[in-house]
Amino acid sequence: MSEQSARDLFAARFQGAPDGVWAAPGRVNLIGEHTDYNDGFVLPFAIDRSTAAALALRDDRRVRVASTFDAALVDTTLDDVAERRFAGWSAYPLGVAWAFGEAGTDLAGQRGFDLALDSDVPVGAGLSSSAAIEMATAVALNDAWRVDADRAALARLGRRAENIAVGAPTGIMDQCASVFGRADAAVFLDCRSLDVEQVRLGFAEAGLVLLVVDTRVEHAHATGGYKDRREACERGAAALGVPALRDLGLDDLPRAEQELDPVTYRRVKHVVTEDDRVLRSVDALKAGDVAAFGRLMVESHASMRDDFEISVPELDAVVDVALAHGAVGARMTGGGFGGAAIALVAADAVDPLREAVAERFAASGYRGAAAFPVVPADGARRLA
Ligand code: ADP
Ligand code: MG
Repeated sequence: MSEQSARDLFAARFQGAPDGVWAAPGRVNLIGEHTDYNDGFVLPFAIDRSTAAALALRDDRRVRVASTFDAALVDTTLDDVAERRFAGWSAYPLGVAWAFGEAGTDLAGQRGFDLALDSDVPVGAGLSSSAAIEMATAVALNDAWRVDADRAALARLGRRAENIAVGAPTGIMDQCASVFGRADAAVFLDCRSLDVEQVRLGFAEAGLVLLVVDTRVEHAHATGGYKDRREACERGAAALGVPALRDLGLDDLPRAEQELDPVTYRRVKHVVTEDDRVLRSVDALKAGDVAAFGRLMVESHASMRDDFEISVPELDAVVDVALAHGAVGARMTGGGFGGAAIALVAADAVDPLREAVAERFAASGYRGAAAFPVVPADGARRLA
């Protein structure tokens, strides 16, 4: 239980009790991949794994951060944080504190803090442990410093921390999923307006489980590939005269095919069709048509494999095995080049599917995959 672990770590490192404990979940993306930075649509949900943040304000300007993830205790000051002087994993929580300052909170007038973190979101498995730590810190500081920022503003702070303090050029999906998540619902997000609608899922009622299969292929080259795809999207939008690929529809694809080189065209085609698939997924789920949603998952995977070219053989293998075992739908999820796939399967098919994936991976000489179910859960909140 991560609330107790965060309290225990707080007591061990800082003595005494925190002023409060806050938590924020990781997320899984149901559909809408590489659409967020194109101002488009995504449909993630917050999962039942989270980061807990135990925090107490101090009477001075010292800032200390500890995490069960690492033995080191980070010991600094609010002045250093305001100057963006921090390194390593502490750039995630301290980057959020810095981002409050950048967004107008007067850090010179604030008190320092002690912060103890514990997380059960697996790192690098495509479930956004980074957004969980950012948003847990954001809701904690928002309350403790009495900033009173709304949830969309907190999500933006998390993205600033990740983009500027950490230096990862990611979109805003992860942070929005973490703050806007709700039990049994997905977060339908317009990444341009940040308009959010919670879409009821009802998977459990339908006897379905969303299984995450982490291929444990590390996206070591992800930065290069991710950056390359971002640039292709920007190039495509510029050549077609729109602010973002979000501004194109299916009708624009014939013109895009004529005007763009074949590779850029395929990148653009993925994003434009993926936005359309998100919108159709929302309609299907609202209508309780899980089968239609499953077909869209499969189309999404094919688009990422063939047009956006961000899948790897391990991810394709998980999808093939899942569909061969009666999954309603399956696709890779996350940035690609490794990471995880998801499969929507009947509850009694989970164990056979796990075994079949293990067999296929062993037969192909792949590293062992880790498979676990995730449940749509509430977003960032104060626990105590
Ligand atoms: P993910 O897909 O899990 O978000 P990222 O590379 O974006 O992967 O973020 C992982 C990084 O976030 C870790 O390398 C670490 O720096 C930081 N992080 C995640 N969880 C924790 C934690 N509990 N304590 C400290 N740092 C963490
Ligand atoms: Mg991340």
